[in-house]
Amino acid sequence: MDTRVEPAYDGRSNSVAFRMTWRATVLTLFPEMFPGPLGVSLAGKALASGLWALEARDIRDSATDRHRSVDDTPAGGGPGMVLRADVLADAIDAADAAPGRPKDRPRLLMSPRGRPLNQSWVVELAAGPGLLIVCGRFEGVDQRVIEARRLEEVSVGDYVLSGGEIAAMALIDACVRLLPGVMGKPASGAEESFSDGLLEYPQFTRPQEFEGRPIPEILLSGDHARVAAWRRAEAEAVTLARRPDLLIARTKGQKRPKNTTEG
Ligand code: SAH
Repeated sequence: MDTRVEPAYDGRSNSVAFRMTWRATVLTLFPEMFPGPLGVSLAGKALASGLWALEARDIRDSATDRHRSVDDTPAGGGPGMVLRADVLADAIDAADAAPGRPKDRPRLLMSPRGRPLNQSWVVELAAGPGLLIVCGRFEGVDQRVIEARRLEEVSVGDYVLSGGEIAAMALIDACVRLLPGVMGKPASGAEESFSDGLLEYPQFTRPQEFEGRPIPEILLSGDHARVAAWRRAEAEAVTLARRPDLLIARTKGQKRPKNTTEG
């Protein structure tokens, strides 16, 4: 268990709640990539003020041979290299054994073969104690360590990155902005895309007219009920046009597909 208990501003209830610090431990061959973009803006300020913690650990520290090698050629032949099961397992065990690390954190492996990440899964992960995330490189990782260390595979989309780090940053960023006290206004989390199974309505701000295009009249009316109804209708229309799959999932009441192969 993480022994550090820190006061965190709970934006929802307007009170100070005590919770364990949400901690992301990232296992990577390129720890120097972190915090990277997670060190600026909302996530960066929250990191600096201790609302969450980030630790990037070098998988190479678990290499045992003279050359500090972490990968080898794929069994059965083929191009590229594969991260070794023994080296990665040792890196995971060392991360878990470090003092003050919660043992019950979900262990994730960034992988294009994984379950597609979506907002309801992000909400779940942000509500937990934090994450241990393994970033693959090269052709991926030895299947046996996925099974032996019960890594859950997460995909950030149907395309292939050169490594898991950018995918891990996307996942961590999505979680961190939901932690109590991180976002300026708690309500902005509740209304945005996906929170209700819909894409967000269009947004407008000053100037009142831009290149001959005015802000929709209704948004300047001051009539909150009409504004809410308009936004709702716009959200449904944009979702129907762009992501009918979300509407279908919503009417079926399935917020998150368990697995691509099951859906
Ligand atoms: N040969 C693999 C791709 C390896 S890409 C395959 O065809 O499935 C190298 C690493 O980048 C992966 O191990 C994974 O950690 C990361 N990665 C690539 N694309 C990703 C995605 N869409 N989502 C999450 N991680 C991804």
